[in-house]
Amino acid sequence: MTVTLTCPECGREFGRKKYDIKPGVLSFCGRSCASIHTQRQTKLRRKRTVLDATSPSVWRKASEVAERADVVRETALTHLRSLKDDGEVEVFTDVLTQGSPVYWRRVVKVGRTCQHPGCDTILPRYNVDDYCALHLPEHVTWEEVA
Ligand SMILES: [Zn+2]
Ligand SMILES: [Zn+2]
Repeated sequence: MTVTLTCPECGREFGRKKYDIKPGVLSFCGRSCASIHTQRQTKLRRKRTVLDATSPSVWRKASEVAERADVVRETALTHLRSLKDDGEVEVFTDVLTQGSPVYWRRVVKVGRTCQHPGCDTILPRYNVDDYCALHLPEHVTWEEVA
């Protein structure tokens, strides 16, 4: 029995034998669509790893981010630039190095305010917490390490 499926990559409809369809596994119209999809997933995963290798409080060089993410520097740079376009990292340009961006830092959304009731403090972009420095200690629970 043949089932008609829609390719999640190109949107084309194609027929597939029912016993060839595995539950929970995406079916593509062909090898090229499957490999395009896999490549994109890999790219997204790598971008995520590069983001995780940056830090909100520390300026890091692309080479340092690359090392932490375990990718080559060019790959790290490509993703850092893309993450900058997404507003997830910011770059610090050292004027002494002729304007080439050298340091990268993770940022969070602009315009967030402290979540403590009645506090209107605008959180800095490098603050990944939901509270200002004054109120954060009240909201942190310290778990005892056994
Ligand atoms: Zn396809
Ligand atoms: Zn506050």
